[in-house]
Amino acid sequence: MVIIAPERILSDLIRFKTVNPPGNENKVAGYLKELFDSFGISIEILEPEKNRANFIARLGSGSKKLLFLSHSDVVPAGEGWNFDPFSGEIKNGVVYGRGALDCKGLMAAQVHAVLRLASEGAPLNGTLIFAATADEERGGTCGVKYLIENCPEKIRADFAINEGGEEPIFINGQMIYFIQLGEKGTAWSTLRARGKSCHGSIPTLGENAVLKMICALNSLAGYEAEIKLIPEVSLLIRELMRIKGIREPLDDENADRLINCIEDKGFRETLRAMTRMTISPNVIEGGSKTNVVPDYCSADVDVRILPGQDEEYVLSELQRYLGDEIEIEIKNFLAPTFSTSQSDYYRLIESATKEIAGNDITCLPHISPGATDSRFLRNAGIPAYGIGHMARGFESEARNTVHGKNERIDIASLHLKSEFLVRIVKKYLS
Ligand SMILES: [Zn+2]
Repeated sequence: MVIIAPERILSDLIRFKTVNPPGNENKVAGYLKELFDSFGISIEILEPEKNRANFIARLGSGSKKLLFLSHSDVVPAGEGWNFDPFSGEIKNGVVYGRGALDCKGLMAAQVHAVLRLASEGAPLNGTLIFAATADEERGGTCGVKYLIENCPEKIRADFAINEGGEEPIFINGQMIYFIQLGEKGTAWSTLRARGKSCHGSIPTLGENAVLKMICALNSLAGYEAEIKLIPEVSLLIRELMRIKGIREPLDDENADRLINCIEDKGFRETLRAMTRMTISPNVIEGGSKTNVVPDYCSADVDVRILPGQDEEYVLSELQRYLGDEIEIEIKNFLAPTFSTSQSDYYRLIESATKEIAGNDITCLPHISPGATDSRFLRNAGIPAYGIGHMARGFESEARNTVHGKNERIDIASLHLKSEFLVRIVKKYLS
């Protein structure tokens, strides 16, 4: 059987417009079914809602289990692209289109790796599960969340490789690869200000709720978060400083100053977000008419938390800045999730990374400020690790195109990811 190259698989995947909403992940599942059927690999499609398909394939059998996970939905493309977001064009060593990085690139590499292993026919001492799931971009209700709640045995594994890792960075000539082992939690909150309406021509007769909210948010803009250095992040910052030749010992007081030594803005601010709770007021609504003093104003705030920061902590921090006049409601609380770096799985990923990227690279643990489907796996007791491995010489500006414009990935990185995945399987299941 001839194996189709990962860039071709990715190009095909991009052309299926699986924008969520509505998703239509069944298009990807149908494509994968044809591909896997031609290799005689056993597959299954689970569709909790019409057209919201989850595709699962299994290679080998036995109690040792490894899961490759990726999601088939993508976020809307929006305007202003330099090319058609759904053409999947391959040009000058790059594949272009929505999902190239998040997450169809990883999916293409996983598919390629599974087909390669199947065609080699080497017996596996265990089971490799590949799952291309729906709805990651909107909460996983039809995807991993559904699978874990309704048929966890379908994807239960000793550990999982998923998206969510930072792309490698270069510091002082040293290439650093990351293994994502944890994700911050969310405490999305709604703030409400109430007042008294009256005619806008005599505003002193009323109480302006919009003004109350503005004052409160202004105070929140000065939020100074408590620094919280969890062990993995401490290790990460200390190692980065060692590579930079900075010998100062790390503590809560100098954390920000040391983080400021990182030149790459995207990575620097990601690092900062790993060291504290963040608060970002992102939606505000109030008032209805120019000549009416508003009696109500609301604001939605994106709050991201670290381990040990519970609802009580979030409320007390918000209250400290907002005062008693603003009502606070935490609407969506999801605790942070973590897998350990003190495990054979982590060491396995580290050694496979060195095999494909060279012994001169450094591997470091990484915490994501955002969340992926890995949180459902970790909550179900399945350690999950996020990988953003890229080939040397990858275009580092492209990393900012995730959920943005002009998303793309270089072909060399797709091949490197596939090679990494094959090595992981060979190390763990042979
Ligand atoms: Zn994603």
